[in-house]
Order: sequence, then C-alpha cells, then structure tokens
Amino acid sequence: MLEIIDLHAEVGGNEILKGLSLTVQPGEVHAIMGPNGSGKSTLTNVLSGRDGYTVTGGTVRFDGQDVTELSPEQRAHAGIFLAFQYPVEIPGVSNMEFLKASLEATRTAQGKEPWDAVTLLREAREACRQVSLDPSFLKRGVNEGFSGGEKKRNEIMQMLMLEPKLALLDETDSGLDIDALQVVAKGVNSLRAADRSIIMVTHYQRLLDYIVPDYVHVLANGRILKSGGKDLALELEQRGYGWLTGEEEASA
Ligand code: ADP
Ligand code: MG
Ligand code: MG
Repeated sequence: MLEIIDLHAEVGGNEILKGLSLTVQPGEVHAIMGPNGSGKSTLTNVLSGRDGYTVTGGTVRFDGQDVTELSPEQRAHAGIFLAFQYPVEIPGVSNMEFLKASLEATRTAQGKEPWDAVTLLREAREACRQVSLDPSFLKRGVNEGFSGGEKKRNEIMQMLMLEPKLALLDETDSGLDIDALQVVAKGVNSLRAADRSIIMVTHYQRLLDYIVPDYVHVLANGRILKSGGKDLALELEQRGYGWLTGEEEASA
C-alpha cells in the first residue's frame, strides 16, 4: 500500500531524510522510534505533504499512485492524514466548528458527500465517547486551555471521524499520564482496520504495551537503521540507541 523508496528530503536547506525506505501493507501498524532530531517528525510531515518540506530524491507510492509531488489536499483525497495539530488558539472558533470545517474539506477531497448537521453531531459525539471526551468539549474554543491529554484525545477523535487509509500519528503519547495513554491507545486500536495503515511515532516503549505494532523501526540520522517486531522496542528500552548509531552506549 505505502512504499517509500530511498527518500531524501530537506527542511530549511538541510537534508534531514537521507535515503529512507519503508513498506507498509494495509492493516499494519508500524511504530517509528529513534533519537531526538533523527527525522521522525520530518517523515510524517513529508508524507502529509506539508509546506516547507522538499523531497530531493526517491519516491513515495501509495495505493499504486506516485504521491511524491502531491499537495496536502491531493493526499487527503488519496486518504493520507497527519493528525491535525493546531498549536495556536483561534479565538471565537469552537472545536465543533473547526471539526466541521476540517471534515467538509476532507470529505470533499475524498469525493464523499459532506455530512449533514445531525449526522455530524452524532458522529462527533460517538467519537468523543470513544476517547472518553465529554461531548461538551465540542462547544469549547479550539485549544482553549486544552490539557496535553485533551489535545491528544482530540487528535484521535478527529482521526476516527476522518477515516484515513493511512493515519500518521506523531508523538501521540507525549505528555500523557497513564490513564490518558490507555484512552488514547484504545482510540488508536479502534482505528485499526484491514484496509487502514497506521504509522505511529513514539518515544516510549510503554505506548506499545497498549498498541501492539506489527513492526518497529529505528530511524536515526535520516534513515531506517533497524527494523523488527515489537520486541525491538523492549530491546531499545534496555539498550538505548547507541549500539545502533555507533555512538557510545548510554548507561542504562
Ligand atoms: P524528530 O522528530 O526525530 O525529533 P525532526 O524531524 O523534528 O526530528 O527534526 C530533524 C532535524 O531537522 C532536526 O535537526 C531539526 O532541527 C531539523 N529541522 C526540523 N524542522 C526544521 C525546520 N523547519 N528548519 C530547519 N531545520 C529543521
Ligand atoms: Mg523532535
Ligand atoms: Mg518529532
């Protein structure tokens, strides 16, 4: 389904991805781990076609189509989504209004009918329930005083409604306490489907106790250095990344 071949990409004039290759089949969950600054967020941003990220070599194929040069809208049409992150508060705009606008744009791009107001509200309430967000959350201002946990639940809630073929989740676990982690994991697990692939960037092995990936990859210095099953994450937790990157092994 997703085939990344020898991908090179630049941000701000620096080459960050340096020959990254990765294949993801439908229904699979792939966890990407790796040291800070290794290019994990760059990878998710490049795959979603975000502005400012320039592909300088290699190809990305998705569903039999070369998507390397497509705009974010065209990728959305193809079913590729990066969880929305909107760090700025937008005064006067409620979460529901934001969701409605995003979904309209997305469904239109996917060639689907936009939902009517009743369906939208029903679906939004159901998605809230799945990630244990009170429906009153929908009336609140976008990011107005959201806690870290609420932001992450919100991202998963949006994904549940967007129904992507490829979901890109970046640091879904950051800033979550153990209860919120379990809720978010449950949401991600309910995203799992035979025709959907998930790429999940995570720093911590503990998330993978709840979302058991099919594959774990170590990204370092812009390339996949090692791939394995879920046990690789346990090994990384014990040994750090030094043994892979050739740097001195950090003491455990
Ligand atoms: P990770 O998510 O693995 O921690 P990133 O993909 O965020 O790593 O960053 C990889 C490298 O790219 C880092 O060295 C970072 O400083 C650099 N980088 C990221 N975004 C930009 C940018 N907008 N301009 C210049 N350099 C960037
Ligand atoms: Mg980073
Ligand atoms: Mg990152």
